[in-house]
Amino acid sequence: MAVLNTPIRIIIAGGNYGGLGAAKAIYTHLLATNSDYDGTKQAPPNPNIQITLVDRRDGFVHYLGMTRGLSQLDYGRKLWAPYSSMPWLQHPSFIIRKEIISQVTPHFVELAGSQERLEFDYLVLAMGVSRQAPIGVSASTKDEFIRDLEYDHALIKSAESIVVVGGGAVGTELAADLKTDFPEKTITLVHSRDLPVPGPFLYEFRQGAADILCKLGVNTLFSQRVVNETPVDDLGSSEALEFSDILPELVNSVKRNVVIETSSGENVKADLVFNCLGAKTKETLIKLPSSTAEPMFTPNGIRVKSSLQLDDPNYPHIFAVGDICNRAQIKFAGAAASGGRLAGKNIARLVAAVSTENIAAELEESRPPKLSMKLILGEKHALIQGKGHVVPSDEAIHKCAPDIKLGKAIRSTFVGTYPVNK
Ligand SMILES: Cc1cc2nc3c(=O)[nH]c(=O)nc-3n(C[C@H](O)[C@H](O)[C@H](O)COP(=O)(O)OP(=O)(O)OC[C@H]3O[C@@H](n4cnc5c(N)ncnc54)[C@H](O)[C@@H]3O)c2cc1C
Repeated sequence: MAVLNTPIRIIIAGGNYGGLGAAKAIYTHLLATNSDYDGTKQAPPNPNIQITLVDRRDGFVHYLGMTRGLSQLDYGRKLWAPYSSMPWLQHPSFIIRKEIISQVTPHFVELAGSQERLEFDYLVLAMGVSRQAPIGVSASTKDEFIRDLEYDHALIKSAESIVVVGGGAVGTELAADLKTDFPEKTITLVHSRDLPVPGPFLYEFRQGAADILCKLGVNTLFSQRVVNETPVDDLGSSEALEFSDILPELVNSVKRNVVIETSSGENVKADLVFNCLGAKTKETLIKLPSSTAEPMFTPNGIRVKSSLQLDDPNYPHIFAVGDICNRAQIKFAGAAASGGRLAGKNIARLVAAVSTENIAAELEESRPPKLSMKLILGEKHALIQGKGHVVPSDEAIHKCAPDIKLGKAIRSTFVGTYPVNK
């Protein structure tokens, strides 16, 4: 192998479903290319490739299980897999930086605090969206995560009445998990629409979710907004708030001892309030000017082409995958992971094209995402919206992984092992 004067620098910004998907594909397509590689040992060193994975955390977090994890501690403790437990990520071509990204420009990523600039030849944006903690997870290490989870769980255990504000998929699942695990507590879901889980879903799906909440005994206050909360006891710590302008997930939105007043004048006393209102995009961090009249960001994320390159002629070297991009109306972990794999493969093709002297690379295209949704409402109820139909709860629950895909997600990060080419 001819050694280049400077290695090809690839940055992966964000290392969860999408970012790890990209990292694995780059590993298998650019590092594990030796003919005897079989996934049982580390790929050989490749001094021509340098991949820097930047994430504010030291590991993968399985968000899908977050609401169950808050109500069932033993399950919650398993949701974090440190990068150090993934031997393939210890390959000498990988550099893992546990840092907060403060801005992304066309040729470098800047780190918060030090303002260090990491230059790149290729970039994968996989920073997701921001949700306030505890759902958005403020922790940056596994120990911190477990400590926070234990703290929030203790608050849940000691509360008699809990209000969840926001009846999107996350709020609806949280209300159902809490009522399933703590049937003696009063759980109330406040939601501004007439049915939960707004979005492009069938009436039967949304009504089905409302029926299950009712069956579980969750009080539902639909078509109502929270207009006042008194008194407010904010649990966020000043230490965690340092970079909260960049990362709203650092702010713990849980409130204690609140009287909630709704838009229809109802007062609800809550020992605990969880805020599950919408997610925020990462737009403020992305300093990539559009070269056309169309802004780079839509309300649904940064614009990408089907190759997952940014949809702008100035940025063929920048890809965006998962929740941060506008590829899908409804954001899913599986789509983030497969988008990451596709972006990784396409970067490998671009790198190969350059090393074979500028033969234009043919890039793979992602398929338009399907609209389907699984809603897991506690351990006994679920709903699935497929293409134009709804799978009822008694059938749907058997089609959902009882561990909410935790095992599958951990396997796909290749903890303790090495990825093979797909
Ligand atoms: C409670 C909950 C339940 C869900 N349930 C489901 C479900 O059942 N099925 C499903 O398919 N999807 C579900 N989702 C959605 C799913 O989790 C997302 O679609 C998925 O996480 C998107 O993956 P991603 O890699 O794009 O982003 P993320 O998983 O959000 O990863 C982004 C990464 O970027 C890092 N990062 C972000 N900003 C910065 C920064 N400034 N500096 C450094 N690092 C940064 C983060 O630490 C994180 O590691 C759920 C989400 C939540 C919150």
